[in-house]
Amino acid sequence: MSPSSSPHIIILGGGCSGTLAAVNLVRPASRPPRITIINDHRPDGRGVAYGTRRMEHLLNVAARNMSAFPDQPDHFVNWLRTRSEYDLVPDEELRERFIPRMIYGDYLKSLAHHHLSEVTRIRGEAVDVKEDGTVVLADGAEIRADRIVLATGNEAPADLPGAETLGGHPAWAGNPWLPWHENLPPDTGTIVLLGTGLTTVDAIITLRALGWLGRIHAVSRHGWLPNAHFRGIEYPDFPPADVDLAGLGLEKLAALMEHHCARLREMGANPAIIVDKMRPHTQRVWQGFTLEEKKAFARHHAARWNVLRHRIAPEIHAQIASAQLTGQLQVHAAEIERVEGAGDRVRVLLSHGRQLEGDLVLNATGPQTRLAASKSVLLQNLLRRGLVSPDEMEMGVRIQSDHAVIDLEGRPSPLLFAMGPLLRGTYWETIAVPELRGQARRVAESILGLGASATPQPVMMEFMI
Ligand SMILES: Cc1cc2nc3c(=O)[nH]c(=O)nc-3n(C[C@H](O)[C@H](O)[C@H](O)COP(=O)(O)OP(=O)(O)OC[C@H]3O[C@@H](n4cnc5c(N)ncnc54)[C@H](O)[C@@H]3O)c2cc1C
Repeated sequence: MSPSSSPHIIILGGGCSGTLAAVNLVRPASRPPRITIINDHRPDGRGVAYGTRRMEHLLNVAARNMSAFPDQPDHFVNWLRTRSEYDLVPDEELRERFIPRMIYGDYLKSLAHHHLSEVTRIRGEAVDVKEDGTVVLADGAEIRADRIVLATGNEAPADLPGAETLGGHPAWAGNPWLPWHENLPPDTGTIVLLGTGLTTVDAIITLRALGWLGRIHAVSRHGWLPNAHFRGIEYPDFPPADVDLAGLGLEKLAALMEHHCARLREMGANPAIIVDKMRPHTQRVWQGFTLEEKKAFARHHAARWNVLRHRIAPEIHAQIASAQLTGQLQVHAAEIERVEGAGDRVRVLLSHGRQLEGDLVLNATGPQTRLAASKSVLLQNLLRRGLVSPDEMEMGVRIQSDHAVIDLEGRPSPLLFAMGPLLRGTYWETIAVPELRGQARRVAESILGLGASATPQPVMMEFMI
């Protein structure tokens, strides 16, 4: 980049992460850099989560913690006030509301409208980056960048065994973020949801909103559905003042958490308060674990952590509970071994010889999280060129503390920076807006050379969920 010319920054991915990165690049700079955002099929500025067109899909974080800017915590709530449906809602109530995700997408769009009028947007798929910073698009176009931000986000769920035989099968929906609900079986039919996490909750809520009356089965290893948000109690005893959570190691940390959970249960309080109290420390704790501890956590504790951590709006939880009470929804705890065609239906083979058949079967097992198995042509090419390397958990790309990507030779890239779900292995918690907004700022500071993050620590902020 010549010292006189404005650097050209290309952001690959125009969802929530890409938009927040661009806004943070533009906001502090007296002479904003030249920015191009390249985004493929999803709606610009909204991405997977906020591109939904269904009003029944609510945020799972209260409005008060969804500001796009860490230094302006009330930004989202104040923006909501500009909309007629919220301008008369009392402040305390509005701050606690779980707003439709589509409206959060409007918020991101309005930020883009306000801050990014000079930004060039390209609708297309980036498929490669050359060593000199040339980004190659699927249609063959090439654009030269001085810096590149990888903000490619969530990938569709990993294929399940047998799914390769189901391409084009009318009863198989392999990507839950495509409009599977536009072709529902009749009310006498059965829908099988693979997974019992947030995407399955979305699907159940949509089926109810559409008035679909058929039978729903949801299946996952433990059969645990997300818990509801609740009003916690003051519990100043955790973390204990004299304990550095990041230095404890997995075994002692798990024992400490169990101990405090038991105390909360004795007090008649919800033990999930401990998970909330962990949130500001999670990234530091994760980075303090040895590789063996990280793997042990992923194997033995992650499922329970996720169910306590990824909570849903109470009104959504009530709908799920009602679907179970009426018998419409049945939840199964089993390993999903294989999927296969069975005439017009899809059969799901489960552990212990059990099986389910659906007129529609939806893969809602969560985004695939193994870099080597990525279906992204871009990421595969970056790996092949050695421009990125896997983090030690092999979940995403390895970065150094300023978010510069580390190449296969172990050198920090002068060109590539990464943020968002690609950093799961580095931070563990890296997908919710409270994390993304901190990362967007840090990436922008690194690229603009603002120095504030010369040796940045994991994003520490208050998580009041
Ligand atoms: C269903 C769902 C609900 C969620 N709800 C909440 C919530 O309530 N609160 C909260 O805090 N967090 C929530 N999250 C988590 C988080 O906010 C999202 O994961 C967020 O969407 C991540 O944004 P992103 O931009 O990194 O990724 P994405 O939203 O996946 O966007 C990435 C974009 O990059 C594009 N792209 C990828 N590769 C290329 C390429 N090679 N070339 C061009 N474009 C490319 C994709 O098409 C996409 O548009 C939710 C997540 C999901 C999946």
